[in-house]
Amino acid sequence: MPYDVIIIGGGPGGVAAGIYAARKKMKALIITDSFGGQSLTSAAIENWIGTASISGYDLAKQLEAHLRAQQGIEIVEGDLVASVAKKDGGFSVVTKGGKAFDTKYVLVTSGSRRKKLGIPGEAEYDGKGVVYCSTCDAPLFGGKTVAVVGGGNSALESVVDLIPYASKIYVMVRSGAMRGDPVTQEKVKSHPQVEVVWNALPQEVIGKDMVTGIRYQDAVSGEMKELALDGVFVEIGLMPNSDFVKDLVTLNQVGHIVVDHATQQSSCPGIWAAGDVSDVLYDQNNISVGDSIKAVLNIYDQVKKGFSA
Ligand SMILES: Cc1cc2nc3c(=O)[nH]c(=O)nc-3n(C[C@H](O)[C@H](O)[C@H](O)COP(=O)(O)OP(=O)(O)OC[C@H]3O[C@@H](n4cnc5c(N)ncnc54)[C@H](O)[C@@H]3O)c2cc1C
Repeated sequence: MPYDVIIIGGGPGGVAAGIYAARKKMKALIITDSFGGQSLTSAAIENWIGTASISGYDLAKQLEAHLRAQQGIEIVEGDLVASVAKKDGGFSVVTKGGKAFDTKYVLVTSGSRRKKLGIPGEAEYDGKGVVYCSTCDAPLFGGKTVAVVGGGNSALESVVDLIPYASKIYVMVRSGAMRGDPVTQEKVKSHPQVEVVWNALPQEVIGKDMVTGIRYQDAVSGEMKELALDGVFVEIGLMPNSDFVKDLVTLNQVGHIVVDHATQQSSCPGIWAAGDVSDVLYDQNNISVGDSIKAVLNIYDQVKKGFSA
């Protein structure tokens, strides 16, 4: 008997959908490599509604415990969905581990992964001064000296997020020009706390217990230089985890799944998407939860109708 719905991803969005699907007594399965999602590495999440401050790790534990407290939801953990294909009016979902499942509907909540610089010291100081979300962590750098790596809109937004907190903000741009919105560029470039470092190619994040600086190469002179820092905000883009449905649904130019924001339905009947993997405007835990619940309730409306895709 196929599932009513298979939920792909165990971040805040997937877990919220799993809890609601179980409470609606839907025949539901959630597949994820791990629970908690992107903010797992965050030292302090201060905007999870209802909790003044919680670490990403503790949030992950709470989410998993809430899901496992539900009756009737099936869980495959430690595996990743590799492909989704149409089958008999529904879908076949196959994992990297070789498991195959049939379902009427699919909810994709597989989130995104932040592009990394891929330089020495970056992984070592992840959460110890290397940051991938300024909305989340800018308040932790009050009075500090930081660098934002990137020249696009997410980098400019990070600088705007940091201005109320950090005393000095370097913006490291790999060429002689930024790509972000011209108006925000002017605001950022002219701000007294901000210094733009043009043609900067980061080479290594340096530190002791925490970040103490970054080594970079001047792309024009070839010279190696260093900046003394307390934090490095890496803002060089996101990659939505949407590869396994790219042949079935419409994606935007970045790879986010385009959805109807009233129902979270994708362009392919029977597939819904929510959270960071979708073309939502703001990447936030609370928003991912809300949109995933909207999606699973809309799926439930279909299940109630006994309608098959
Ligand atoms: C460092 C950091 C700190 C952050 N701090 C905050 C904060 O303080 N407050 C806030 O509101 N937001 C914060 N965010 C943003 C927030 O984490 C995201 O908006 C939120 O996690 C999105 O939830 P999601 O469920 O859509 O996706 P994700 O959290 O990305 O979860 C997706 C899940 O799907 C799994 N998955 C991926 N591919 C597959 C596959 N093929 N098969 C099965 N499973 C898969 C992933 O492992 C993950 O468990 C932060 C982000 C980062 C990177």
